[in-house]
Amino acid sequence: MEKQTLISIYATELPENEMDDNSLNDLFYEGTETEYRLALRAAAEQVSGFLKNNKQPFSGIKPATLLAEFDKISLDKPLSNYKSVFEEVNALYIKHATAFHLPQYIAHLNCPVVIPALAAEVIISAINSSQDTYDQSAGGTFIERRLIDWTGEQLGYNNQCDGVFTGGGSQSNLMGLLLARDYYALTYLGHNIKLDGHPVNANRFRIFVSEKAHFSNQKNASLMGLGEQAIVKVATDERFRMDARKLEQAILNELEQGNIPIAIVATAGTTDFGNIDPLQEIARIAKQFNLWMHVDAAYGCGLLLSEKYRHLLNGIEQADSVTIDYHKSFFQPISSSAFLVKNKLHLNIIKHHADYLNPKEQDYDALPAQINKSITQSTRRFDALKLWFTLRLMGKQKLGRYTDRIIDTTEQAACLIEGSGQFELLSHSDLGVLVFRYLPQHAGEVDPCAMNLHIKQTMFFNGEVLVASTKVNGQFYLKFTILNPLTTIQHIQHILTIIQKHGKDYEQRHQHTPAYS
Ligand SMILES: *Cc1c(COP(=O)(O)O)cnc(C)c1O
Repeated sequence: MEKQTLISIYATELPENEMDDNSLNDLFYEGTETEYRLALRAAAEQVSGFLKNNKQPFSGIKPATLLAEFDKISLDKPLSNYKSVFEEVNALYIKHATAFHLPQYIAHLNCPVVIPALAAEVIISAINSSQDTYDQSAGGTFIERRLIDWTGEQLGYNNQCDGVFTGGGSQSNLMGLLLARDYYALTYLGHNIKLDGHPVNANRFRIFVSEKAHFSNQKNASLMGLGEQAIVKVATDERFRMDARKLEQAILNELEQGNIPIAIVATAGTTDFGNIDPLQEIARIAKQFNLWMHVDAAYGCGLLLSEKYRHLLNGIEQADSVTIDYHKSFFQPISSSAFLVKNKLHLNIIKHHADYLNPKEQDYDALPAQINKSITQSTRRFDALKLWFTLRLMGKQKLGRYTDRIIDTTEQAACLIEGSGQFELLSHSDLGVLVFRYLPQHAGEVDPCAMNLHIKQTMFFNGEVLVASTKVNGQFYLKFTILNPLTTIQHIQHILTIIQKHGKDYEQRHQHTPAYS
């Protein structure tokens, strides 16, 4: 075999790009099948290079250094061949991209992805179906519907459920709140918000979330014209889960003030702690006050896969609607998310008929149209195929074992952190998030917030391990988000040693100077 790299073979075989070339050889069609294969193989080679070369989760490059590279580029002057494009993209992006597949990446909610989903991506983008109507997707529509039905079964819904794939959890949460609001107005006020806009007392609508719920709830309330003021934050318990008694009090309190409770958002898997709000009790309270119950299971949906831990989601079947992020907890590439409703009739609230796409006269059973279920997207990617490939090749049980492994590693890590005496751990986790900080060895001499911030920043620009951070009661904490079954307790042990080392360095340098200096 020649000592030529594969990439240069492909690059030389691929046609040069001549600017005044009138040929159509960049279009994807029968006549360019060879170019297509070569370009894809070269792209796959680049990805292999990423796996081989990127040995730590981040290169540590500073934004200013990276930005300077972009200043040299003129988008109006195309490069002459694929090889140059690959080289440029490698320098600008791949070389420094955050590597979620490495076990030392435990920062944010980014899971490693499974290979069947990556194979599906190739098909999705080339065939490029659009999921809005049957005449733009055919089998794609039914694949999506089967996966929605399957997800509904996992939730414990009956065959009255329905739903749609969305771009992400924030969007799915928006759908939940929008349906809750419009359903409330229609049912209890006889007012159709879709047609007539807000009723006069809409500024009194109230939505209950926990203090640790995702910020998309605030954004969505403001987007819906209710304002962030519509969100009532309910205090949490010692594991940062919504306190059901406080929820009841908060509802009564709002009623007393003449406000109008319309919905409760329970979080199944908080972003900061990975804990699950008490779903059964919240369901009971929602029923008692006739409130819509939405469960944000963007993160916690992974438990649906697990035999061992599925019970933690008990009660979710009582929710009126649910957010699922397959790209958080089903090892799927971004984007892959879904919104589900228990009663499919509720989706009629948002239906809109455009004469050119889904005219009213159409017989829906003969010609299904997923666009009827989507609020925020018309043209929509066939993301469902990734999950289809994944389930058909791996099956639910295998994915579930990945999830179990992650949860078990996290619990071991929690014990390690707690047991060492050098850290303060705020809570154990139902899933994979641990919030903790390194404690100064000589209390009172250094500020723990400044020290832990230093630890985080030093690790980020070293790039060797990536962890996240959060603030709890105004205090700075480090955060592990474990979503990779490759991450073992040995990796965690090693990461804790690095944290201790940076902490000790910081202490030595700051011991005799006052805090915040
Ligand atoms: C990540 C997350 C979201 C938002 O989902 P995106 O897919 O990032 O839009 C919503 N809720 C929770 C609990 C999350 O962790």
